[in-house]
Amino acid sequence: AADVRLEDLRVEYGSTTALDGVDLHVEPGEFFTLVGPSGCGKTTTLRAVAGFESPTGGSVAIGGEPMRGVPPEARGVGVVFQNYALFPHMTVAENVGYGLRFADPPGGASREERVAELLDLVDLPGFGERDPSTLSGGQRQRVSLARALAPGPRLLLLDEPMSALDARLRERLRVQVREIQRELAITTVYVTHDQEEALAVSDRVAVMNDGGVEQVGAPRDVYRQP
Ligand code: ADP
Ligand code: ADP
Repeated sequence: AADVRLEDLRVEYGSTTALDGVDLHVEPGEFFTLVGPSGCGKTTTLRAVAGFESPTGGSVAIGGEPMRGVPPEARGVGVVFQNYALFPHMTVAENVGYGLRFADPPGGASREERVAELLDLVDLPGFGERDPSTLSGGQRQRVSLARALAPGPRLLLLDEPMSALDARLRERLRVQVREIQRELAITTVYVTHDQEEALAVSDRVAVMNDGGVEQVGAPRDVYRQP
């Protein structure tokens, strides 16, 4: 598993400062959550780690390697966004296989074997020929997770992947995601505005506010009453 190190990370959009010097270290294999109110910079942080955003200052390193100039597809990062939908004209298997467009399946598996393995992992065995429109919201997000994991990334980035689901489904998916993360021991950075969710799933949390990190620690320490 890879670690992630952000040093004095800055992102500006015109005159808006989205990130005002973020320092964070995510340990290998850790489930690390960025929590905070809307607009505090959580998504921008994740996009900068993924390489979708060019920082105006500071640095991102994954597994000890500086990421400046490294394109998203070469970072070894899997991403699930709230609104990064499945392709409706492709089957579930084709959607998962799309995750392999930049990389061969790990471990010498064929594409078909890899897709079947991933559908088992996300507890959707036999769903390969289904049309995404026939799946529930939670099932679709698990297919998105399988797609993100297909190339065997060293880092998983999850941006509010549950926010479109109702409370009961959200809790179930959260447990499933955590089990998969533990099984793979993959370093994971998770974004949510929901404190309860952050408490329930995280090894550690970073509380963000107004483009910066206010506090980092185990959930019980961060949320202890003053
Ligand atoms: P969060 O994920 O915590 O809700 P964001 O990272 O999306 O916060 O946004 C941080 C700040 O950057 C906000 O002030 C937001 O309005 C601004 N911002 C985000 N994306 C853009 C963009 N593409 N153009 C201009 N401003 C943006
Ligand atoms: P766009 O190409 O939409 O302007 P960027 O330039 O920010 O977006 O992103 C560069 C590449 O990263 C794009 O080719 C796109 O495939 C990928 N990408 C961007 N945003 C996302 C996202 N939210 N989820 C997954 N992939 C993304």
